[in-house]
Amino acid sequence: MDYGMIGKIEKARRYAEEKDRIQFEAFSVRLDGDHGPHVVHYDNGSWQCDCNFFKTRGVCSHTMAMERVLEGMVLEPAAVED
Ligand SMILES: [Zn+2]
Repeated sequence: MDYGMIGKIEKARRYAEEKDRIQFEAFSVRLDGDHGPHVVHYDNGSWQCDCNFFKTRGVCSHTMAMERVLEGMVLEPAAVED
């Protein structure tokens, strides 16, 4: 392996440990809940979930679980308007 690639791998390792460098802008995930799978979308601080609880409350166990998984890498709920 050449020195250029070794340097990139070392930098990648450091970036991966410094998670505050990472901010998710948009993604979709499938979360396998106790009663079946749910699709969670995130787009610039706005969450969506296809479960019934989310439809009435605007938040659910699935979106909250993803906030925990991605702690510090998505906008804090308090900072989100609307
Ligand atoms: Zn949900």
